[in-house]
Amino acid sequence: MEYEAVIGLEIHAELLTASKIFCGCATTFGAPPNTQVCEVCLGMPGSLPVLNRRALEYALKMALATDCRINGESVFARKNYFYPDLPKGYQISQYELPLAEHGHLDIRVNGASKRIGITRIHMEEDAGKLIHSEHRPVSFVDFNRTGVPLIEIVSEPDMRTPEEAVEYFKGLRNILLYLEICDGNMEEGSIRCDANISLRPVGRSEFGTKAELKNMNSFRFVRQALEYEIKRQRALLDAGKEIVQETRLWDAAQNQTISMRGKEEAHDYRYFPDPDLVPVKIDESWLESIRAGLPELPSAKIQRFQEQYGLPEYDAEVLTAEKTLGNDFERIVDEYPHPKKVSNFFMGDYLREWKKAEAEKVPLKVDPKRLSMLFTLVDKGAISSTASKGVFLEMVATGKDPETIVKEKGLMQISDSGALEAVAQEIIEAHPKEVADFKAGKTKVMGFFVGQLMRQTKGQANPQLANEIFQRLLGK
Ligand code: ADP
Ligand code: MG
Ligand code: ZN
Repeated sequence: MEYEAVIGLEIHAELLTASKIFCGCATTFGAPPNTQVCEVCLGMPGSLPVLNRRALEYALKMALATDCRINGESVFARKNYFYPDLPKGYQISQYELPLAEHGHLDIRVNGASKRIGITRIHMEEDAGKLIHSEHRPVSFVDFNRTGVPLIEIVSEPDMRTPEEAVEYFKGLRNILLYLEICDGNMEEGSIRCDANISLRPVGRSEFGTKAELKNMNSFRFVRQALEYEIKRQRALLDAGKEIVQETRLWDAAQNQTISMRGKEEAHDYRYFPDPDLVPVKIDESWLESIRAGLPELPSAKIQRFQEQYGLPEYDAEVLTAEKTLGNDFERIVDEYPHPKKVSNFFMGDYLREWKKAEAEKVPLKVDPKRLSMLFTLVDKGAISSTASKGVFLEMVATGKDPETIVKEKGLMQISDSGALEAVAQEIIEAHPKEVADFKAGKTKVMGFFVGQLMRQTKGQANPQLANEIFQRLLGK
């Protein structure tokens, strides 16, 4: 039997506010445990929550950026469950009347564009963090994260492959970063993804029973977990077994998903409107001012990069896929107004170094003026383009300027025709057969001569000049 996967994602993003969603405690990551807490976020009796206006503004920005319809009135609800990281015994979330609904995000996979529906975006508070001791049978709890503002972005079950799911996840993260409302730090858990997946026979319109893969904080995990889950569910269906609706975890060490618990239904949570919080009414003029203040978003930037810089769509997409990359590109083009050349450099050497730097969390720092100097050295023929790659790497590693590096490493291209001519003469004398071939009309032999010269000068000869010299010496 041939199956098709059906995937929907629930993505949680921590908002970059200075204080928590319902109290004034700081949200700084990494503070000593339980130092950023108060009676409100610890759920002491008699304390009252007050909504953080900035958190609401950030949530609205995301809703506008994903073309959601904003509900004029939304309601906070209590989601009741017991877990040691949840001091109140309930999480303040939104249920029946969320902040925003019916949005979408366009993704590109294999050169084709696809629209993924966004069911809803709602606001809620984060829970605390449990730390399980490796040495003793005890666990610790840190409530610093309790009450950090989150938005949950729930997609329609519109994705059909792990690639689509990852592209959608990346696209949302990118928008959060463009909007500067989330730090995007996946390792610290600032963005987490629950992936829902089911299979159905190709051609069937009803969905199958889904499994929910909880709390993944990397694109790779999402891809691997979904790929694993497709295999697991297919094997069960092929064996005539039923899929159990459940919550599973991705076990990165074992490379498999494991069952965590049976999936609870919404009614298990006993949702009800939180009587301590008034309904959220969105002032129209405030909303309009937020809309007017939205920055340029990736989709608009892709268009602009094509129009303003004459770049192919592919280049524009790669360059806008991360905010800092596009910014770097524009700063460099300001200094060195040859967009396609700069773009080519970005697609290759720059992107590779940039990714390495991102992975190591030391942002790539290359001064646009110095990069412009490097490009100009190649344009003037002072160094070869091959040599320029090494110079770039050295610039990244040492922060030195390209001219200093070229001098120190002796990479100056030899453009002194006298010096090259002497070497060319020796090469000609040493290869009478090739000379005869050339004179007999085999012009391809020129490549051989130039190659020899490059070899003898360790790549420092200016190839164009070398060509001219051989043409002249061989009497052509
Ligand atoms: P639940 O109540 O189990 O959380 P929801 O209806 O809220 O289910 O959906 C949660 C997520 O699961 C959404 O992103 C939705 O698109 C996705 N989803 C719903 N049904 C399926 C299905 N049969 N297969 C895959 N994903 C699904
Ligand atoms: Mg759900
Ligand atoms: Zn607090």
